[in-house]
Amino acid sequence: MTTSTTLPTQLLIGGELVNGTGAALDVLDPATGQTLTQVPQASDEQVDAAVAAARGAFSAWAATPPKDRAAALLALADAIDADQETYAALESDNAGKPYGAALADELPAISDTFRYFAGACRTLTGALAGEYMAGHTSFIRRDPVGVVASIAPWNYPLMMAAWKLAPALAAGNTVVLKPSEMTPLTTLHLARKMAELLPPGVVNVVSGLGGTVGSRLINHPDVRMVSVTGSVATGQHVLEAARTGIKRTHLELGGKAPVLVFDDADLDAVVEGIKVFGYYNAGQDCTAACRVYAQKGIYDRLVAALADAVGSIQVGSQRQDGTEMGPLVSAAQRDRVAGFVDRARELKHVEVVAGGSAGQGGGFFYAPTVIAGARQDDEIVRREVFGPVVSVTRFETEDEAVTWANDSDYGLASSVWTNHTGRAMRVSAQLQYGATWVNTHFMLVSEMPHGGFKQSGYGKDLSSYALEDYSVVRHVMVKH
Ligand code: NAD
Repeated sequence: MTTSTTLPTQLLIGGELVNGTGAALDVLDPATGQTLTQVPQASDEQVDAAVAAARGAFSAWAATPPKDRAAALLALADAIDADQETYAALESDNAGKPYGAALADELPAISDTFRYFAGACRTLTGALAGEYMAGHTSFIRRDPVGVVASIAPWNYPLMMAAWKLAPALAAGNTVVLKPSEMTPLTTLHLARKMAELLPPGVVNVVSGLGGTVGSRLINHPDVRMVSVTGSVATGQHVLEAARTGIKRTHLELGGKAPVLVFDDADLDAVVEGIKVFGYYNAGQDCTAACRVYAQKGIYDRLVAALADAVGSIQVGSQRQDGTEMGPLVSAAQRDRVAGFVDRARELKHVEVVAGGSAGQGGGFFYAPTVIAGARQDDEIVRREVFGPVVSVTRFETEDEAVTWANDSDYGLASSVWTNHTGRAMRVSAQLQYGATWVNTHFMLVSEMPHGGFKQSGYGKDLSSYALEDYSVVRHVMVKH
């Protein structure tokens, strides 16, 4: 399935596609561990030039009427749709996603994000407030923030780029985007299109390591807002930069989604749901259905059925037909996952009922794994694994389930599985998570917000709330 397109390696600065002048980084195929290509990083001077270009383009883009900004976003959506196979192949080769899933699940959602914000930006308005002082009229404006630094992770490289670019541009900001150093290819391919379709400087793309390129970008004095999707540690770096420079921040960090399964739930639906939503993208998903709490009456049946179902997941190269789960993104990620499972296995009360081993050969494979008998204080229940590992914990009462679900450093996503409507309403009202699904998990739509609480960060992606995050409220008072 490897794309025939020349692999993209150039940065986008001020409307020009340019070679990075920093050290080159290997970009790997996670199924083999082989190098796909090398991408030269942006140098310090190039990061500065990208910020200067974004700053230079800001006034004109902010003043561009919403219908024209919308037209640019729609053109990007059309360009992505027209070239879906290339994007899917690049994403699959570089991030290890099964090609079919990248093509069918992710690419349509990505272009839809641009389309949603193309429409939404035309509804982003201030308000006429009225006369609060004799002889004066006040009104509210909604204006863009300025230059936004957007830092994206490796798990959904193009989707996270879209989630950041679309609302920021729709609200009238200009952007410097840094993809993950591990998975820059789809973003660099999009950069080629953005060079054609957007005015110079409106979006700039710089690739490179977080500690150098990312750090210079978020600390740049002309960057007014930093948006990051990544680990808690990176969120803390962003907050440091924001503290020094007093910048607006938008943080989408980790997660550890609880999945509450009550005795009256539909067992087949639960098993199918966890099989899909716990292992999609090899579990490298901040909303993955990874922390299951099963009530005592359904627990044994659930563990047995889940072990069977998960054992049947087809693991293989992302390019092979029929592959349901590909490799993890890197050797480091695979080893990290293996460490969590090995430490859990040492506990007497825990049983690894499916998977529990790394693949052989040069690829970064890890078997889909189910850990039964986990307890609330176990590391496997508390820490984000970010891999194909689901723990199952037995509970007795609804109160216990809700208490354990909320007893977490994270607050991004959760789900409740029950056929009792009253329980679904009661429990979802008590869960301290940005999203709660009932009898499903993981589903996102452009119209609804995605974002968490606690160490999952704050700010919303998708929806009109993202447009609000990427804009500022201003008061204008006119003396009659
Ligand atoms: P990461 O934090 O290692 O990297 C994310 C991005 O931050 C990369 O582009 C990286 O280069 C950059 N970065 C790292 N250090 C930096 C620094 N000092 N300054 C500026 N930029 C820096 O995260 P990751 O490993 O790519 O992604 C996995 C993490 O992302 C997981 O914890 C996951 O839960 C989280 N995530 C969250 C969401 C969400 O919506 N909440 C979505 C996807 C991933």
